[in-house]
Amino acid sequence: MNDIQRESALYIDGRWTPGGGRDREVENPATETITGLITEASPDDVEAAVAAARTAFPGWARTPVAARAAILRRVRDVIADRADLFADTVHREQGSPPRIARVLHVDTPLAVIDATLAALERFPFRTTIGNSIILRQPAGVVAAITPWNLPLHQVVVKVFPALAAGATVVLKPAELTPLSAFELARAFDAAGLPRGVFNLVPGSGRRVGYQLVTHPDVDQVSFTGSTQVGSSIAATAAHTLKRVTLELGGKSASVVSADVDDALLAKAVKMTVGNCYLNGGQTCTALSRLIVPENRVEQAETLAAEAAAKYIPGVRLGPLISAEHRKDVEWFLDPEGGGPDTITVVGGHDRIGNPEMPVRGHYVPPTVFSRVAPTSRLAREEIFGPVLTILSATSDDHAVTIANHSDYGLAGAVWSVNEDVALDIAGRLETGQVDINGGTFNPAAPFGGYKQSGLGREIGEYGIADVLEIKAVQR
Ligand code: NDP
Repeated sequence: MNDIQRESALYIDGRWTPGGGRDREVENPATETITGLITEASPDDVEAAVAAARTAFPGWARTPVAARAAILRRVRDVIADRADLFADTVHREQGSPPRIARVLHVDTPLAVIDATLAALERFPFRTTIGNSIILRQPAGVVAAITPWNLPLHQVVVKVFPALAAGATVVLKPAELTPLSAFELARAFDAAGLPRGVFNLVPGSGRRVGYQLVTHPDVDQVSFTGSTQVGSSIAATAAHTLKRVTLELGGKSASVVSADVDDALLAKAVKMTVGNCYLNGGQTCTALSRLIVPENRVEQAETLAAEAAAKYIPGVRLGPLISAEHRKDVEWFLDPEGGGPDTITVVGGHDRIGNPEMPVRGHYVPPTVFSRVAPTSRLAREEIFGPVLTILSATSDDHAVTIANHSDYGLAGAVWSVNEDVALDIAGRLETGQVDINGGTFNPAAPFGGYKQSGLGREIGEYGIADVLEIKAVQR
């Protein structure tokens, strides 16, 4: 049986309402078959969703924190109970292999929800400075606009902190991966979230997204996606002086200090390859530049080839999201993009269409380029596919200079046998987060970028704070 998830109704004002927009198919990028059919929101649907969120706002904002937390905890429990369903939905709409779908796409957002709820319990909504009471109050109606790479996670990191803060939400998920957002709406409904507090309006960015960004009753836009669209959203939102949170692209560096021993170098290369290839290379935090001491380049190439060989397309390496995106990534599989000295360590354009690749699905060969020039396109542009570039540095200072030679500043990694050296390098990287010697993702820590990687911070107490206005009351 060909299971197609049919979603013809939108979740607006606590009810499932027939969508007034066009129908749109959802493709499974691993099989190139249709896995969903949704009806998009019409302009009237968007109007209704914003109106519902606006009407619901004062009541939700005044709901005591403990009551808000209790409802959100119920939502969390519904998601946990339906974790297999969520994993299967993301697996079908985004193509992630099943185990990765569960761990990365469901367990991680659940951990983020837990961290957000823990932060909510102790959040200082009311403090004092001298004769002033400082009130932190929800910003109003938040439009959340999310991408396709982590369909549930990118929604959760926006929606839960906003609801925890007391804001109401209108969500526009990515056109390519809207299905898990419908399951999330069902979880909100099952948990008894008050009407209008969360609303779902799928559709294209140019229509539904734009309508939300320009809508006078939307107070804040929380966007994750490309730097190009993020910057245009910030410009458009400026006309109505909306608050804007932007989580954008990255070209993050994994910096190997000159002091590493063989064991740490091996760990650094293996973990950098794994991080770069996570989710088919489609994560904004991908460590896509590995910077090693120049006398370690050959060793790093051998280690990277060994690590990359384990990422078998269709088994451990998922597909790219679409045929169009695969074309974009394939364009980068030419070593010429890395400058005259660049060599292909594994993968590359010669492997496109190789018989070892799955016959169906938008797969590209896992690729490592080495001896890449720091100024080249391969070293500077976000590829959003399983493509690692190895660069060499003459010293730790030089490595920091190369790492910071980027328009982006989202993530990074440092490897050193000396924690003081690692911390010093981490402190000098112009980036929103840095992992030392394989430090793991912390679902309570602030997440966001420097430079063209974004504005604002998400997750945990920083995610809640991002959706709050600050009021000083003197007495
Ligand atoms: P986009 O930035 O195009 O889209 C992200 C979201 O914004 C989608 O929901 C999209 O809608 C919406 N959108 C698009 N245009 C507008 C607009 N004018 N006004 C309001 N909303 C809009 O990212 P893509 O999905 O096309 O990915 C392109 C590139 O972006 C990737 O190759 C990668 O480099 C980067 N990217 C970065 C991510 C990150 O986490 N930082 C995540 C995903 C992508 P629609 O559904 O119609 O596309």
